[in-house]
Amino acid sequence: MASQNSPEKNSVVKYERTLFEPEHDLFREAYRSFLDRHVAPFHDQWEKDKIVDRGVWLEAGKQGFLGMAVPEEYGGGGNPDFRYNVILTEETAAGRYSGLGFGLHNDIIAPYLLHLATEEQKQRWLPKFCSGEYITAIAMTEPGTGSDLQGIKTRAVKQDDGSWILNGSKTFITNGINADLVIVVAQTDPEKGAQGFSLLMVERGMEGFERGRHLDKIGLDAQDTAELSFTDVKVPAENLLGEEGFGFIYLMQNLPQERLNIAVMAAAAMENVLSETLQYAKERKAFGKPIGSQQNSRFLLAELSTEATAVRIMVDEFIRLHLDGKLSAEQASMAKWYSTEKQVHLVDRCLQLHGGYGYMREYSVARSYLDARVQTIYGGTTEIMKEIIGRSLGV
Ligand SMILES: Cc1cc2nc3c(=O)[nH]c(=O)nc-3n(C[C@H](O)[C@H](O)[C@H](O)COP(=O)(O)OP(=O)(O)OC[C@H]3O[C@@H](n4cnc5c(N)ncnc54)[C@H](O)[C@@H]3O)c2cc1C
Repeated sequence: MASQNSPEKNSVVKYERTLFEPEHDLFREAYRSFLDRHVAPFHDQWEKDKIVDRGVWLEAGKQGFLGMAVPEEYGGGGNPDFRYNVILTEETAAGRYSGLGFGLHNDIIAPYLLHLATEEQKQRWLPKFCSGEYITAIAMTEPGTGSDLQGIKTRAVKQDDGSWILNGSKTFITNGINADLVIVVAQTDPEKGAQGFSLLMVERGMEGFERGRHLDKIGLDAQDTAELSFTDVKVPAENLLGEEGFGFIYLMQNLPQERLNIAVMAAAAMENVLSETLQYAKERKAFGKPIGSQQNSRFLLAELSTEATAVRIMVDEFIRLHLDGKLSAEQASMAKWYSTEKQVHLVDRCLQLHGGYGYMREYSVARSYLDARVQTIYGGTTEIMKEIIGRSLGV
């Protein structure tokens, strides 16, 4: 088996990765075989259904692909090495398996539960988190506010017994239909500004917790993205995650890993689309020769290969920093905006190289084009990433 560190001959990325050890390669092979057996044959149908079958979560749990960082005593893999998360994200993105919300579950939700949940909460939620019985989501965005999170209106009012009454609505929530356990960002003290937000865990079946529309997106067809609404939902005191009033601080602590995860997706998707396009450009002929040998196409492929390589080097280096606990919010923002803008550009140009076939859904590049577009929007838009970086420059 070729190590995942070594680029294959003629690879579109001219960079020898040094991030992984042999045990990571084995894990990657195991995940690939899971994707081949349990995802590839069904994903087209899930795209038509606009949602995945919950059975794929149970199978992923059985095979150890959920909660790799969760300690074994709660049913997890007991290995906090983020490179295992990276592998899942890369292979899922490379295969264009947009329906699998495992990245959100493992990279985004797991850290909240691992770092903030009490022992009792861990025992209550983590075993089912790892088995795939509980699918998770995080609900920050509302119909009236996304980038400006301090504008959140969902309100939780504390009762005498310590429980909360939650009212409000959220939108664009990934895993929204399938989710059993949702981290809801709510305003708990409007007088306190940024210190007035808390995280509440809302569970499937709580009275007043309803799913709204299953949203009709232009891409990521197999991913269930939904509206959620809360009408006088009684959330018990023991479902407060972390401390009251610290919601914003927790979001700020966890967003860098979410942004890095999106950059990891972007790098893998770029390499996959470019490889497929290169192959196409070698095979498709116009004016008696392969289109790839026309100077314009050759130059374009050279530029895209350079950009994919630059993104790969940046993402791998930032993963390394993250492994050492040194990735800053600004670096994560750089990785997020730069890689996703490059992804959108690359996929657009690759579609162009496919000519009319590129516009046909039966061609993978067409669907990659539609899937890529949201990458510069969710997890913090390109503009918000630049705000974060700009502020750090003192301007
Ligand atoms: C498929 C999908 C999945 C998602 N999943 C989730 C999820 O699981 N959980 C969740 O909570 N949210 C989720 N989101 C929401 C996503 O994070 C928001 O859409 C995003 O943060 C932008 O917020 P908004 O849509 O309200 O846009 P707005 O904030 O209204 O922004 C509109 C435009 O204005 C620009 N803008 C805003 N403020 C500034 C500024 N200060 N300077 C310059 N430009 C600015 C933005 O960059 C953008 O171009 C998802 C969205 C999508 C599309």
